[in-house]
Amino acid sequence: QPVVAVVGRPNVGKSTLVNRLIGRRQAVVEDVPGVTRDRVPYDAQWNGRQFAVVDTGGWEPDAKDRAAAIAAQAETAVTTADVVLFVVDAVVGATDVDESAVKMLRRSAKPVILVANKADNSSIEMEAATLWSLGLGEPYPVSALHGRGSGELLDVIMDRLPEAPKIIEDRPRGPRRVALVGKPNVGKSSLLNRFSGEVRAVVDAVAGTTVDPVDSLVEIGGEAWQLVDTAGLRKRVGKASGTEYYASLRTASAIEAAEVAVVLLDASEVISEQDQRILSMVTDAGRALVIAFNKWDLVDADRRYYLDREIERELRRIPWAIRLNLSAKTGRAVDKLAPALRKALASWETRVPTAQLNAWLTALVQATPHPVRGGRAPKILFATQAGAAPPRFVLFTSGPLDAGYQRFVERKLREEFGFEGSPIEIAVRPRK
Ligand code: GDP
Repeated sequence: QPVVAVVGRPNVGKSTLVNRLIGRRQAVVEDVPGVTRDRVPYDAQWNGRQFAVVDTGGWEPDAKDRAAAIAAQAETAVTTADVVLFVVDAVVGATDVDESAVKMLRRSAKPVILVANKADNSSIEMEAATLWSLGLGEPYPVSALHGRGSGELLDVIMDRLPEAPKIIEDRPRGPRRVALVGKPNVGKSSLLNRFSGEVRAVVDAVAGTTVDPVDSLVEIGGEAWQLVDTAGLRKRVGKASGTEYYASLRTASAIEAAEVAVVLLDASEVISEQDQRILSMVTDAGRALVIAFNKWDLVDADRRYYLDREIERELRRIPWAIRLNLSAKTGRAVDKLAPALRKALASWETRVPTAQLNAWLTALVQATPHPVRGGRAPKILFATQAGAAPPRFVLFTSGPLDAGYQRFVERKLREEFGFEGSPIEIAVRPRK
């Protein structure tokens, strides 16, 4: 998600502008000199595009040198932002402090948009033209307070943002796509046969949905699901159909086509290399994951003991996967499948609001700071969720993080927000 930073000296109306850009009256602290604000990002949207607005208010009340303080602020902003909004008071005009900030901004290669705020009427708007002298190009007059010019400003911001995918329109919700995978004889067709396949009429009624002929539409837990590439399973073709190589290709393509995968493991057998490969296909593809231990009817106390140890050892890297113990033969716990799939998909599509994410992160970093390495500890400046399905996060930092600390952040992120049944990705963007 692209980041827009708002920079300017105190009292030019930065927080009012941020409120205007995010389109709601949030508790953005007023721009009072002496009040130190942190770099707080807020989620914003315009014309179907999402971006984060970072209020760089942090103003040092006792700063001897105001120019130095604003330079520091500007520096942080430009290193983390994709676009910088430099806000000037259109009534006051350009001051010395403004001019020294401009020097800092021009040293960076980041696009800067010059905003002439407090242009509450057309005569001030005309005055704003004198701000061309700052050398930042065209000044955009706005009244953050009354909204005048803010639509035009947002259009300009959109033009300068790096290409980002449009928000996917909520598609007509057809059935969710599930891959049912596992090594031969693990019980895939047996499980499939547990579900009724008479739901096509219902699904075809949902506008805009199409179902591949190799897929099956089945009812699981009172809901229609699209099981991808189940043609082979339905027909019960000979077990040795194709080599393992082709079977594995087919498994990979089914996973790719799905949103969530059910990996069947045989609870009566040792977790094998082949099982591990299939699990890795799911995590590498970034799909939601439910692990179903089938043939649970064959598991006695003895086997249970060893299985628990195998799980601890073999599934250590995916503790977040949802696990079920079921039996396609007896029907045990088969009704748990639909809730597990729904939960995994909900995690997979989770979006954590930027403000909430950063409130959590700030507390975490305060409680457990990054260890000092060679006399310094990298700071985490802020985080945004760059995407969902699966959730992807970007941490903006002052330098590279220890791998161990990054794992710690990921673990804590899961503890806080769940993501049960979904992989998540965390990227670190250290400032150059
Ligand atoms: P697939 O190759 O994964 O589709 O596996 P199948 O569904 O053809 O099942 C392979 C064998 O395992 C068949 O003999 C099934 O009857 C048996 N099987 C499947 N599920 C279970 C189960 O839950 N318990 C037991 N005991 N046997 C099962």
